[in-house]
Amino acid sequence: MAQTDVTDSAERFDCIIVGAGPGGLQAAIHLGRNNFRVLMFHRPGGRTHHARHIENYLGIRSVSGGELIETGLVQAQSFGTRVENAKVERVSGTEGNFEVLAGGKTYRSRYVIAASGAKETIAPFKNLARFFGISYFTCMICDGYRITGKKLVVIDRTINGVRTSIGMKQMYTSDVTFISHGFSLSPYYAQILDDEGIGRVAGKPEELLGETVLEGLRMSDGSVIPCEVILGWGGISLNDEYLEMFDLERDAEGFKIMTKPNGESSVAGLFVLGALRQGHSQAIISAGQGAETAIEISTRIVEI
Ligand SMILES: Cc1cc2nc3c(=O)[nH]c(=O)nc-3n(C[C@H](O)[C@H](O)[C@H](O)COP(=O)(O)OP(=O)(O)OC[C@H]3O[C@@H](n4cnc5c(N)ncnc54)[C@H](O)[C@@H]3O)c2cc1C
Repeated sequence: MAQTDVTDSAERFDCIIVGAGPGGLQAAIHLGRNNFRVLMFHRPGGRTHHARHIENYLGIRSVSGGELIETGLVQAQSFGTRVENAKVERVSGTEGNFEVLAGGKTYRSRYVIAASGAKETIAPFKNLARFFGISYFTCMICDGYRITGKKLVVIDRTINGVRTSIGMKQMYTSDVTFISHGFSLSPYYAQILDDEGIGRVAGKPEELLGETVLEGLRMSDGSVIPCEVILGWGGISLNDEYLEMFDLERDAEGFKIMTKPNGESSVAGLFVLGALRQGHSQAIISAGQGAETAIEISTRIVEI
């Protein structure tokens, strides 16, 4: 690990924000417009950055995640937020006195907002990069609409794929086949799919077929399942390594971080937004959480 500066000379801020996704950026805009000293750590990438078409964000007909982030960074900086392109390595402390280690330096802050999101486990299918975000999607809430009326294959390693398949059938397309990747469905779930008119295949997908347009999926046994779109879910892991000093309250699976409605975690003064915390993960939800948290922090700083 890089050497750190002596903390007595550390710069002090009212709030340090980890991650420039929609949650962190919205919080920065609110806090900056209250004239607080705000430092944001930004590491390029992140889930929003991978979204090619966001069409469910109020007031914007369609925007790529990259554009949304770039515009948000400019907006946050225009209200005085300082943005550092560095990975946060560790956060420690409590309300009024946090220490944040990033880029070999230590910074102090009264409040910390963890808005660093999650990363997806991308399946190792051949040609996936060619179709990712175009005809290979990972999120029904985000991209189900784009699949309307198309010949769809749903791939999941868990029973959740049954729910996704039914949701897709009921909302978007009548032509759905579910691939239980690496496991066999119990007769109970197989019957549910049969009753819904959803095709089912057990096995291991290997290759997406097609040059510019997706034409099908080749399985490890050589069989080909024709399709126009794939909805595949391989799971996510949280970008929360820098919080390991804290014994944070998590959900029943010990995964997502539990917070109060204002975003405060079980550690006083440490707020958590977006994909890191319990609930649905959507850009507009993260942004709303960012606004809520920023107002809470502002109220505490000025003690009103
Ligand atoms: C392909 C795809 C399509 C999507 N489409 C939609 C859609 O249409 N509509 C919608 O509402 N949502 C969509 N989403 C989901 C949406 O992007 C997420 O809900 C949203 O990203 C959650 O935002 P966030 O604020 O938690 O963080 P993120 O957007 O994940 O941003 C977190 C940032 O923190 C950075 N970071 C991580 N660790 C550190 C660290 N240690 N130090 C500094 N920085 C760090 C990351 O690099 C990233 O820049 C889509 C997601 C994907 C993957």
